[in-house]
Amino acid sequence: MSQIILGNTGLTVNKNGFGALPIQRISKEEAKELLVKAYNNGINFYDTARFYTDSEEKIGYALNGVRDNIIIASKTMSETAEGFWEQLTISLGKLNTDYLDIYQFHNPSFCPKPSDGTGLYEAMVEAKEKGLIRHIGITNHRLAVAMEAAESGLYETIQFPFSYLATEKEIELVNLCKTKGIGFIAMKALSGGLITNSSAAYAYLEKFDNVLPIWGIQRERELDEFIAYDKNPPVLNESLQSVIKKDTAELGKDFCRGCGYCLPCPADIDIPTSARMSLMIRRAPTSVYLNDSWKEKMKKIKDCIHCDHCKNHCPYGLDTPRLLADNFEDYKNFM
Ligand code: SF4
Ligand code: SF4
Repeated sequence: MSQIILGNTGLTVNKNGFGALPIQRISKEEAKELLVKAYNNGINFYDTARFYTDSEEKIGYALNGVRDNIIIASKTMSETAEGFWEQLTISLGKLNTDYLDIYQFHNPSFCPKPSDGTGLYEAMVEAKEKGLIRHIGITNHRLAVAMEAAESGLYETIQFPFSYLATEKEIELVNLCKTKGIGFIAMKALSGGLITNSSAAYAYLEKFDNVLPIWGIQRERELDEFIAYDKNPPVLNESLQSVIKKDTAELGKDFCRGCGYCLPCPADIDIPTSARMSLMIRRAPTSVYLNDSWKEKMKKIKDCIHCDHCKNHCPYGLDTPRLLADNFEDYKNFM
């Protein structure tokens, strides 16, 4: 089983982290089964968030008996110190614990710092002094904010999307974190479902000894896959390298990662899936997206009022309305 140390936090974790966003979609008992199975197979890092509805509660319910053996990372989206304390108190209660190993600012649009007027960073420090959290982290989808956080010396962990579709700039961030002793937590290692070859994704990330991937797990077969990789890590051989090369060429850089930060849409368009439908119908079983329900959802693209809310909130700087229109044009060929 491979383990990594999360920078200067000294936290030693199994190289497979459990991303607990998807367990919102299953029942409490199903989540418990998954979480307990993960734990019994050596997975000791669990990443959740106040924003992930009942994800924290399910972790607290399933893993309460082994709290001291696991590392829990949660997140707050609060923009005020008052909200920070409210959310931290709720998270601790739901997780059934009196401390979080890592508490992260959840994708803020800026890098919180002392004396920036928000009081957020000061609240983190106070929570750490009180023993309510052990390490201070930040998650982000914007490279500039993540870079600023890494340069600032204020953060012990940084969580950022990282997969074999990464550009040189993103690899620079990983290397900077390594140099500075910042733990790097990789989200979206399957790029929100666009990467369908998990062994290639796993083998690529194995190359980085300071990167902890967290795999979003909802089904037992997904968990089994990563447990199997942990026991017999896939090797980045010629065949997997050619998968990576093909995907990198096909997906390019201008693609929607499905992160959802552009929501809500006043026209009720399901942007995270609709804006990458062309890729999804070619990469997932067609029955999933070529059904009546999705046909209706795609038709909503015509209702776009061009308010540009999505475009202004996309951390990847995408021209979302154009992307939606292009995807709709393509989808019409299948309707
Ligand atoms: S520009 Fe269109 S798709 Fe984007 S948020 Fe506004 S209505 Fe929705
Ligand atoms: S358009 Fe941008 S913000 Fe919206 S889901 Fe795609 S990548 Fe995320």
